[in-house]
Amino acid sequence: MDDFFQTPIEYLKGVGAVRGEALKKELGISSYGDLLQYFPYKYIDRTRFYKVKEVSSDLSFVQIIARLKHKEIVGEKAAKRLVAVAFDETGSLKLVWFQGITRMFQNLIVGKAYVFFAKPGFFNGKLQLAHPEAELYNSEGAKSKGNLALQPAYISTEKLKRFLLDSKGIQKLIAILLEQYARNLEENLPAYIISNNQLINRSLAYQNIHFPENFLQLKEASQRLKFEELFFLQLKLLKNKLFREQKFKGNVFGKVGYYFNEFYNHKLPFALTSAQKRTLKEIRLDTQKGVQMNRLLQGDVGSGKTVVALMSILLAIDNGYQTCMMAPTEILANQHFQSVKQLLGDDFLEVALLTGSTKTKARRSIHEDLESGKLNLLIGTHALIEDKVQFKNLGFVVIDEQHRFGVEQRAKLWRKNSIPPHILVMTATPIPRTLAMTLYGDLDISVINELPVGRKPITTIHFFENSRLRMFGFMKEEIAKGRQVYVVYPLIKESEKLDLKNLEDGVEVMSREFPLPEYRISIVHGQLSAADKAFEMNRFVKGETRIMVATTVIEVGVNVPNASVMVIENAERFGLSQLHQLRGRVGRGAEQSYCILMSNHKLSKEGKLRLETMVRTTDGFEIAEIDLQLRGPGNIEGKQQSGVLDLKLANLATDQEILLQARQTVEAIFKEDQQLELPKNQLLHQHFQQKTEGLSWNKIS
Ligand code: ADP
Ligand code: MG
Repeated sequence: MDDFFQTPIEYLKGVGAVRGEALKKELGISSYGDLLQYFPYKYIDRTRFYKVKEVSSDLSFVQIIARLKHKEIVGEKAAKRLVAVAFDETGSLKLVWFQGITRMFQNLIVGKAYVFFAKPGFFNGKLQLAHPEAELYNSEGAKSKGNLALQPAYISTEKLKRFLLDSKGIQKLIAILLEQYARNLEENLPAYIISNNQLINRSLAYQNIHFPENFLQLKEASQRLKFEELFFLQLKLLKNKLFREQKFKGNVFGKVGYYFNEFYNHKLPFALTSAQKRTLKEIRLDTQKGVQMNRLLQGDVGSGKTVVALMSILLAIDNGYQTCMMAPTEILANQHFQSVKQLLGDDFLEVALLTGSTKTKARRSIHEDLESGKLNLLIGTHALIEDKVQFKNLGFVVIDEQHRFGVEQRAKLWRKNSIPPHILVMTATPIPRTLAMTLYGDLDISVINELPVGRKPITTIHFFENSRLRMFGFMKEEIAKGRQVYVVYPLIKESEKLDLKNLEDGVEVMSREFPLPEYRISIVHGQLSAADKAFEMNRFVKGETRIMVATTVIEVGVNVPNASVMVIENAERFGLSQLHQLRGRVGRGAEQSYCILMSNHKLSKEGKLRLETMVRTTDGFEIAEIDLQLRGPGNIEGKQQSGVLDLKLANLATDQEILLQARQTVEAIFKEDQQLELPKNQLLHQHFQQKTEGLSWNKIS
């Protein structure tokens, strides 16, 4: 079976060396398997006839039955064309041909009914069909000729077209492949899984995904192939997890000791939310099992992840281990360092900060204190995973990530101790469950789905440009109450086309509206040097400036509890999750906070939905779900690098049900048969043996 999939593409009849090379270069198709899995990007619907009235430019292709009313050749030379009009009981439509005019003119008979098939388009503001295929209509013949079907369309390239491999050309090759070799593909899913999940068999699925006769066949085929794809992905992820749990022992945090209790009873300035308590319990259980923990902690901005991480760290320290906390940027590492110190107070624990800008001398003493075991907690950036950084006994690692640290980077941390440390990955970008299940499918997941009590939900308002003065008035009121305001712009340099307000314009308007000496403004954007940025940020943090005008650089991690208003200019230009992240910058203090979305009057349908969603809800998980539906999984921020999402057919936004089905199926398999030893799972056992190169779980160690 695998032999078939790996057969070089040039062996296929009709391909050969030259076209084979072109297919490889242009589309990455180098084997039979690649070609078989080169799926149509759409299907041209010839399963139904449209009425003339129904024809719209939204349809990619239409097929109509219409009677010819008129035909004439117009224009001269290059502009010469055949224009015809056809009609049915709902209306009439213009048809145009630019080539093969004479022959077409002779063939078309006024008064006869035809099946016309073409892509609808606009010309001079009028809907028309250009170059339709035309066939005399015959109520019997239409069906018997088999043109009532879904025609596959494949993406091709200019270069391939020179080798006659346009969509139709590729279609022909796939037809040959299916006809000659793929009629009896070996099944790769166990029989009981196929029947339990009501799937069609593999050969039929490939046949019907390329050449479905109707929508039902197409649906069954794609259901089967998507299931297969997601099933093997989940099988790999959960197998990795099992493998890790079997292979890696974990430190046992047997007791709750002085540090945890002292902090909990005397230092913690608030009561934990029940979500925080639940999460802590999950971590506590994980760290008693003798198995390395790999847990993802998801929670919206402000949900209080840091304190959960910190208390887990105290638990580790109580059991005699060192700990570290890694953040993606220096600013964030710094902030963690400050807030941890504030929560712990002085002289409670040995805590140090290590980033790229730590001076050599300080760095050296940190290294020493780590190796001697004196340092309890090290907070920092990527600098932490450098080889030079050696711990005496690292037992617990917190990774606060904006963008996912790779498996390799996590693995580097594991190697810093003979028994790998427990790992807690925190993310403030809520992602839908199904996406988490795939991106982080090999981790356990905790969710803090509740904000601390007393937190007033941020009020979000959408203003059009004509309410600008109201917005300024509101800013002034809030500033008069002693609060601070962010104003965020999407771009630094103006793009004429998009007519975006640029930051400089914005600063000018703001300075006029909020003049010195009464108002002071900080300006921060990506083109400032790090030092200037820090200087400006600091003025705002200290309250010396009341307004922070910025581009999205402030998205990452500033924490100014006194800031109560977030104004987002051209809000329609931002993605949903970005809007949500920006909004999370306010609402950090006790005061009622506001987010004002400024936009143009002209909004796309999607832009409108984004703004409406923001006004309606502050629930990060709900927003993430809508974002996923709108943008598709490939565009989820920071996730592009992750190979997990290179799915051929399945789509994590639209195929969530199939994903859940696949996940549950795999969970059930491992529950019953961890080693895949049962005869009925033999195919799955083979799957892993064949794919020795794919043993990513071996590399993790
Ligand atoms: P996150 O990292 O999840 O965005 P933080 O951990 O920074 O959130 O917490 C946000 C703020 O809420 C911090 O000032 C923190 O001290 C505070 N906080 C955390 N948990 C609680 C709680 N249970 N009750 C009240 N305030 C809390
Ligand atoms: Mg945080």
